[in-house]
Amino acid sequence: MTIDFPGHSAHPWFGVRNNCLVVGGRPLTDLAAQIGRTPFYVYDRSVMTRKFDLLRTALPTEIHVHYAMKANPHPEVVRHLGHLVDGLDVASAGELRVALEAGGNPQDISFAGPAKTVAELEYAVSSGITINLESERELRLLGDLADHSGLMPRVAVRVNPDFELKSSGMKMGGGPKQFGIDAERVPEVLRRIGALPMEFRGFHIFWGSQNLNSGAIIEAQRKTVALGLELARHAPAPVTLFNMGGGFGIPYFPGEQILDLEPIAVNLRMLLPEIRSGMPDAEIVLELGRYLVGESGVYVCRVLDRKLSRGQVFLVTDGGLHHHLAASGNFGQVIRKNYPVIVGTRVNDADAGPASVVGPLCTPLDLLADRMPLAHAQEGDLIAVFQSGAYGFSASPQAFLSHPPPVELVVSG
Ligand SMILES: *Cc1c(COP(=O)(O)O)cnc(C)c1O
Repeated sequence: MTIDFPGHSAHPWFGVRNNCLVVGGRPLTDLAAQIGRTPFYVYDRSVMTRKFDLLRTALPTEIHVHYAMKANPHPEVVRHLGHLVDGLDVASAGELRVALEAGGNPQDISFAGPAKTVAELEYAVSSGITINLESERELRLLGDLADHSGLMPRVAVRVNPDFELKSSGMKMGGGPKQFGIDAERVPEVLRRIGALPMEFRGFHIFWGSQNLNSGAIIEAQRKTVALGLELARHAPAPVTLFNMGGGFGIPYFPGEQILDLEPIAVNLRMLLPEIRSGMPDAEIVLELGRYLVGESGVYVCRVLDRKLSRGQVFLVTDGGLHHHLAASGNFGQVIRKNYPVIVGTRVNDADAGPASVVGPLCTPLDLLADRMPLAHAQEGDLIAVFQSGAYGFSASPQAFLSHPPPVELVVSG
C-alpha cells in the first residue's frame, strides 16, 4: 500500500470535524485555544498504541520490542510506550533519568552511545542497566569502576558489523564507524570481559535506520543472526541479550510505501530456531524509535502572513526550522522533499495551487513546504505537518534566532 499525502486530505491516523484536523479527538483549533499559543507539537497516544499493536500482531512473540528513546524523549511519551514495550534503549544519562522516572525496569534498559562519560558510566552501573560497550576505552573504565565500587557492570558488546545495508535508509554500521567495536576485534574483547568482574549479557548489532524495504531488512537480519551466532561462540558466558537492531521506517514523502511487516515476520520465524541453537537463553530484541512514535505527532503552526512574490505564494508562519529541522529538509536529507503538510483548518478545501510554507528565520533554509499544492490559507489558519512525532522537537536547533520554543502536548484519542 502506498500512502500518498494529497495536499487536502487528512492523514490516515487522524480525523476531520468542521473542516478542521482532529488529533486525539480534539480539533486543532481547540488544542490551540487550550494551549494559548502556537506553534505546538501534539502527540496522540492512541496512534502509538496502534503502531505497537500492528508490530505485536505481526511479529513472533519471542521477538521483544524496545523503544529507542532518542526518537522522542518526552516523559509522557516514554511512560506510555514504556508500558507497551519490553524495554527502553537510552543514549545519554539524561535519557536514562527519564526512563527510570517513567518507571522503566533497569533490567530492561540498555545504554548505547559512543562517547559515554565516566559520570554516565557510573550512573548506568549504579542503576543496574545494561551498557552497550562501544569501545575498549569503555571496557577499561568499567573495569576500573568495578574494582573501586565492588559493583558488577552489566555489559553487552555493541558490534560494528562487517556488512553494510545495501538499500536506502541511514547506514549506521559496516565499514569504518564511530559506533561499536569492529566485529573482528570482538572475540578479543569478549575474552577480556570474561576476565573482569562483569555480567556479560550479549550483543547489540545496529546497522541502520529509516528503512522501508522489507527485503533489505530481512537481509540485514539474516546477516545479524549469522554474525551474532559466530560471536556467541566466543562469549564468556551464555548470551542473555541479543539486540538485532531495528531500522523500521515510516513513509515521509509522496510515493513511499509503508513497510510490509509480514515478510519480516516470516523471516524472523525462520531465523528463530537458528538463533536458539547458539543462544538458547537470549532475550531477542528489536529496538525501534520512529516506527513506534513518528506517526503519532503533528507539528502545528499559524499563518501570520500570506505573501505573493513574483507569482509565488508564501505562507509565512510562526513555526519553522528552529522547531522542526527534519521537516525543513536539513536533518540528513540529500535531496529536499516535502513532508506531508496540510492547511489543518481547511482540510477538505480544494487545492488552490502551489504555496510555500516558511518560518520566521532569516534564512532561506527555513522552509516547511516548498511549492506544495495546498488549500487557500489566510492569516490565522493553522498549518499541520504530519509524521512529526520522532526527531522533531528534540532534534531541532531551538535557540537559533531566540524565538520561544514550541509547546508539546500529549493527548489520547
Ligand atoms: C537512533 C537509534 C535507534 C532508533 O532509530 P529509529 O530510526 O528511530 O528507529 C535505534 N537504535 C540505535 C542504536 C540508535 O542509535
